[in-house]
Amino acid sequence: MQKPSDARFLAGFRQYFEESAHSGNLFVDQLNPSEDKARRLFAEHDLRCTRQRARVYCALDACKSHPTAEELHELVNSGSEACCMSLATVYNTLEALCSAGLCRKIVSTTGSATAARYDADIDEHLHVVTPDGRLIDVPQSVGRQLLDRIAPDDLAHLEREMGVQISRIALQVFASPDSSDPSSA
Ligand SMILES: [Zn+2]
Repeated sequence: MQKPSDARFLAGFRQYFEESAHSGNLFVDQLNPSEDKARRLFAEHDLRCTRQRARVYCALDACKSHPTAEELHELVNSGSEACCMSLATVYNTLEALCSAGLCRKIVSTTGSATAARYDADIDEHLHVVTPDGRLIDVPQSVGRQLLDRIAPDDLAHLEREMGVQISRIALQVFASPDSSDPSSA
């Protein structure tokens, strides 16, 4: 279920794309901070900045709700019939962005449903998974405090025991169905 704030955001985003498309400036010569950021980041990550990739990245970057590929697909195609991107293209583009380190894929299971969601915020942070499957960012300070309590000795023990090298730790916190909506906190 979409929260009102997401619905407002999507409406604003659609309007932006519609206006951009009508003015003929979509991702061409428009000075848009998000597009500039995309160009710079793509160059830094050695990923060719195609119009499709930039469009998917900018939509994801502007969207703080950790959308699924289906939600992004709807978003990038809204407002402009001329620019029609298939769901497979959105999936492939997201995979390319993830491989280049420009976004992160987060897979979580709520009930019997498993969903992959995407996050353009690649800074280390934790998520609360709501009962309806949404992801809410945990404030950096709170998440950091939680991760800092994991003892390095325990991690070293785990590495020895399992013969693996730990590169990063991802932690998901699942909200109980009885809790109030964490996104409204
Ligand atoms: Zn996040």
